[in-house]
Amino acid sequence: MADPTAFQFDLPRDRNWPRIPITERIHETAWAAAGSCSSLRHAPPEEAIRVMVIHATAGSSTAGAVSVMEEGRASFHWIIPGKDEKAHGGHVWATCPERLAAWHVRRSCAHPDICSGATNLNRLSLGIEIVNRQDGKDPFSPWQIEATAEMVCYAAGKYPNLAHVVSHARLDPDRRTDPGANFPWAEFRSLVLD
Ligand SMILES: [Zn+2]
Repeated sequence: MADPTAFQFDLPRDRNWPRIPITERIHETAWAAAGSCSSLRHAPPEEAIRVMVIHATAGSSTAGAVSVMEEGRASFHWIIPGKDEKAHGGHVWATCPERLAAWHVRRSCAHPDICSGATNLNRLSLGIEIVNRQDGKDPFSPWQIEATAEMVCYAAGKYPNLAHVVSHARLDPDRRTDPGANFPWAEFRSLVLD
C-alpha cells in the first residue's frame, strides 16, 4: 500500500501549461458559506498561490462535505463528486473563490519540502476535496482522478508560482491520512506531468 504521507510532486515551471477551462459549476450553498469560513490572502492569488493540496472527504457525499462549510468549520476551493452522485462524470463543484484562502490545512502544519517549511499554508494554497469514504475499500473512479489532474493543470496555467502538489497527509501526518493509501498517486502524477 502506498504511504499517503509521501504523496508529493513538483510542477516544472518552464512548461507552457495549457489554459484549459475546467468544467466547474458554482455550488451555491458552499459559495454562500465561503465568506464566513475563509480568510483574505496577503497577496493577489497570482502571486500567492504556490501549493495545491489534495484531500478526500472521508464521507460519501458532496452535501456532507459542504455541511462542514455551512457550520463554518473548514472550507476548500473545489469538490469532486463521488460515484453515486448526479454530478459525477459531469462537472466539478467550485465551492470557494480562488482569491480567498480556504481553511483546509491546520495553521501550524508545515513540511520542509513545501515552500521552505512555511506555516499558514492556507494563504499560499488551493484545496481540492475528492468525495471518497476513505475506508480503504472505496475506490476512486477514473473520472475523479482525471478531474483532479485537470484541476491541477488548470491551476498551473493560471498561477505562475504554483510549484507543489501535495497530500493533506504529508502536511499533517499526525492527524490526517487523506487522500488515503488507495489514492492512485503515481497515475495521477503522470496524468498531470506526462
Ligand atoms: Zn484533508
